[in-house]
Amino acid sequence: MDRRRFLQGATIASGMALTAQGIGRGAAPVATASGGMLPRVCSTWDFGVAANQAAWKVLSTGGRSLDAVEQGVRVPEADLRNHSVGKGGYPDRDGKVTLDASIMDEHGNCGAVAAMEHIAHPISVARRVMERTPHVLLAGDGALQFALEQGFPREELLTPDSEKAWHEWLKTAKYKPVANSEVKTYNAGPGGTPGDASNHDTIGMIAIDAKGNLSGACTTSGMAWKLHGRVGDSPIIGAGLYVDNEVGGATSTGVGEEVIRNVGSFLVVELMRQGRSPEDACREAVERILRRKPEAKDLQVGFLAMDKKGNVGAWAIQKGFSYAVCDSTRQDTLIPGKSTY
Ligand code: ASP
Repeated sequence: MDRRRFLQGATIASGMALTAQGIGRGAAPVATASGGMLPRVCSTWDFGVAANQAAWKVLSTGGRSLDAVEQGVRVPEADLRNHSVGKGGYPDRDGKVTLDASIMDEHGNCGAVAAMEHIAHPISVARRVMERTPHVLLAGDGALQFALEQGFPREELLTPDSEKAWHEWLKTAKYKPVANSEVKTYNAGPGGTPGDASNHDTIGMIAIDAKGNLSGACTTSGMAWKLHGRVGDSPIIGAGLYVDNEVGGATSTGVGEEVIRNVGSFLVVELMRQGRSPEDACREAVERILRRKPEAKDLQVGFLAMDKKGNVGAWAIQKGFSYAVCDSTRQDTLIPGKSTY
């Protein structure tokens, strides 16, 4: 996967008003005064391009943003070459693939699963938790039990490629049991911190539909080689994902512990409520992490946000973050994320 293959996103990045073309029936696009546009979808990383295109099939035919984000993130969940989301994701320290996901709709409804094994599409289980239970978050064996009861097939999620990578990691791993202080260092990855490219990359997606309603989804296999049972930010509402239909939505990727400590996505949305642009809000959330813990400069965290008008912005601690944007003008835009370092 070539993360450096940035396509030109100048129109969206500069927030110019856009002319709607080629949009499907039932989804009359609206270019807003501020330069935003409805419908529109954005998502994290280069694999967000293909995910956005699946979401666009829903949005461009007048569909609901909730359906768009679910359909969108199912694409990387099913991609076996993607080692950070869904089936084929890198396992934990014990060789088990455990998945985290969350989803949130325009009414503030939300659902999530954490540390769930054997189900290839955790985002769809998260949606069932939201729609068919009185709860928000199911974890571990209980999440698996619920998924099986709901008819999701039980699958082996550890692919030969991921198993091979895990065995390679085991050869040099210094990641010892909890009693060892090295656990505290996050020294979990083949090359050092979990900020390494091999060790993260959640898909977080925010969409606004033709009616102006926002939804979001976030799904990941989490930090590679993590302790069994570790849960990241992605299934934690307010950390990895937050949507407020009056204001906007935000999602995150990177070292989830730092995002949870700062309730990152909720913070981004609240900053937008106070009048910050999506980019400014993401930047302030990153800088809050860095102010509270300067050592976090060696890690990667990225936020991506969309406001109620369809304006999109992002910010990360380090270079290398990218996000994809899709609307009626262009469906394959990939934008390099701005960063503090
Ligand atoms: N945020 C995810 C986690 O901490 C991983 C990532 O996006 O890099 O589990």
